[in-house]
Amino acid sequence: MSDRKELNIVGLIGTGMVGTTFAYALMQQGVANELVLIDADARRAEGEMMDLNHGLPFVKPMRIIAGDYSDLADADVVVICAGIGQRPGQTRLELLKTNAGIIQDIVPKITAVNQDAILVVASNPVDILTQIAAQIVGLESGRVLGSGTTLDTARLRYMLGLHYGVDSRSIHAYIVGEHGDSELPLWSLANVAGIRLADFVGANGQGYDQAALDRIFEQTRTAAYEIIQRKKATYYAIGLGLLSIVEAVLRDQHTVMTVSSPLSGQYGIKDIAISMPTIVGRQGVEEVLNLPLSESELAAFQKSAQTLKERLDELS
Ligand code: NAD
Repeated sequence: MSDRKELNIVGLIGTGMVGTTFAYALMQQGVANELVLIDADARRAEGEMMDLNHGLPFVKPMRIIAGDYSDLADADVVVICAGIGQRPGQTRLELLKTNAGIIQDIVPKITAVNQDAILVVASNPVDILTQIAAQIVGLESGRVLGSGTTLDTARLRYMLGLHYGVDSRSIHAYIVGEHGDSELPLWSLANVAGIRLADFVGANGQGYDQAALDRIFEQTRTAAYEIIQRKKATYYAIGLGLLSIVEAVLRDQHTVMTVSSPLSGQYGIKDIAISMPTIVGRQGVEEVLNLPLSESELAAFQKSAQTLKERLDELS
């Protein structure tokens, strides 16, 4: 058992499209020694385990098993991708109730065997489910975080990279707030190499154009709808986003990411999980950064938090 403590062990609950895409990315990165797959549909988890294991000769060795909650006892990180999507005729509140019920079922089963693992929630609505999971684990622990606007920030940076002819990794721009309709871009702080977007001219001669930036944000905000219309679900980019979060935890990287976590008074917000640039490391949430937002950004961020709180209240 003591040897197992030396290993990097990752649990995955929900081996659907998002979960298995994350698993496929994880096995190629060589960052985990063991991956435990759990799904309500045990045969699906088993099939995914077999398929992934057959790829191991092409990547770095690791152990991939289909298990149950007792196999999470030594897990360092548990990623939760279990949930249902909206069915025809189902209201948003019914969907929220179903997925909240799934989180309320899963999280106590994890904490019964493991009180140290960092929990990463990807299931939607991610901010509300993160808050519910954190209330079960302990709000102050920092051990529960949601993927939040990690994906939205990646979408924004990708599109800004295209717009300016610059590698998206060199663009420092963030989407904060709800992972959903009330999210917002922090344009006042967006920069390339410390040059604010208002003053930046890209490799292609592209300079400041607020109308173009507004269009890019709109495309970011509606990207999931556009993809779901075409291919029913999104999973590649979120799979890689989850990999980045898990890597930041396992390697104690202190990476700044727009994950969702319960705020405790920062920006005048508490009792709800929401995304802001956050330092992510071995303890999960190491610090939610205190950014000098413009007045209108702060107001929109607080409004986004209020929207989330109202949805959380609908549950009780
Ligand atoms: P999916 O239907 O392909 O997979 C969901 C899996 O969860 C299924 O295998 C199902 O059997 C399993 N499951 C359901 N209830 C369970 C339970 N109680 N215990 C264990 N497993 C259970 O769905 P998907 O496309 O993989 O999406 C999963 C979730 O991720 C959805 O809620 C989706 O909205 C969300 N998502 C989030 C983001 C993000 O940015 N956070 C992006 C895309 C999708």
